Amino acid sequence: MIDLRSDTVTRPTPGMRAAMLAAEVGDDVYGEDPTVAALERRTAELLGHEAGLFCASGSLCNLLGVTLLVPPGMELLCDSAAHVARAEMGSHAALHGVSVRTWQAEAGIATTDAVARMLQPDAGPFLVSTAAVALESTHNFGGGTIQPLTHLREVAALCRESGVKLHLDGARLWNAHVATGVPLREVAHLFDTVTVCFSKGLGAPVGSVLVANEERIARARVLRKRLGGGWRQAGILAAGALYALEHHVDRLAEDHAAARAFAAAVAAHAPAAVGDVATNIVVLDAPAGTVVAGAAAEGVAVSALGPRTVRAVTHLDVTHEECVQAGEVVGRLLTRYADGQNRQSELRMA
Ligand SMILES: *Cc1c(COP(=O)(O)O)cnc(C)c1O
Repeated sequence: MIDLRSDTVTRPTPGMRAAMLAAEVGDDVYGEDPTVAALERRTAELLGHEAGLFCASGSLCNLLGVTLLVPPGMELLCDSAAHVARAEMGSHAALHGVSVRTWQAEAGIATTDAVARMLQPDAGPFLVSTAAVALESTHNFGGGTIQPLTHLREVAALCRESGVKLHLDGARLWNAHVATGVPLREVAHLFDTVTVCFSKGLGAPVGSVLVANEERIARARVLRKRLGGGWRQAGILAAGALYALEHHVDRLAEDHAAARAFAAAVAAHAPAAVGDVATNIVVLDAPAGTVVAGAAAEGVAVSALGPRTVRAVTHLDVTHEECVQAGEVVGRLLTRYADGQNRQSELRMA
């Protein structure tokens, strides 16, 4: 199977497994795991923040990052396709009393005006007041799109002037960094709290880090324990993430090239189904049920994000050639489907 459902399906490489096996560990709840501490320090430094907290998932980092910024009964603003709004099982509301209000954004990229129209830091006695804004880059459901730096700077300035806090869901910030060449900290320093994942394109088996200032990370450490997220010899996992930082960041460019090659192979058969490819995610406008089942029958796994949205994600566990091959399979399916449609409409007309 050529598995392009997600970049979360990557398995640790032999080199990564060796690094994990050799990791020096201790009890992280006691603050005694040197490998966890090293990962937290290194990530914070890369992102230009004071401190970091290693967690089991990106969802947990987002949950903690948002609750640090939004008191119960106040609102978080984000776009309607944001991971925090759609894919975190309502945790921000269910566990922390956060009210979420959303704007619509084409491919997940909002204009600064769209954000400005939503901000209401002092909404008065009848409406919910805005405590924070969350942005996502790259944008997952938007198709791996990158928030432009000018937009991020404008939104950050807007929030600062309004006394509203700013969270970045940077699960795939690595991909944005490699695609644009903009240093990680140049984006991350604009935000009060930032989540990055090691379990996506970086290929580690488990783990994400939340960065912020010392005071916020100290609070997040307590809140993580309250949620049952304190862990012990987690250095085994942190070693995989540290290995990924050393060996798997620059190579994301190969995933981006493979995504473009996949898209080109699809477009050779069905040009109308394919849009621009910014990073390692390709979103196709196609009948998802038919395409997912048809591709699976030919050894290619892609996922359905909606009735007419198919997603393919490239990663280090698939080769460039496999991505081209997968694109040809999906492209041929789309022509066959289009032929079927044409025949049906000819029959109807006849
Ligand atoms: C994957 C992802 C996360 C976190 O996912 P977990 O499965 O909880 O690690 C957060 N945000 C975005 C945009 C993601 O794609």
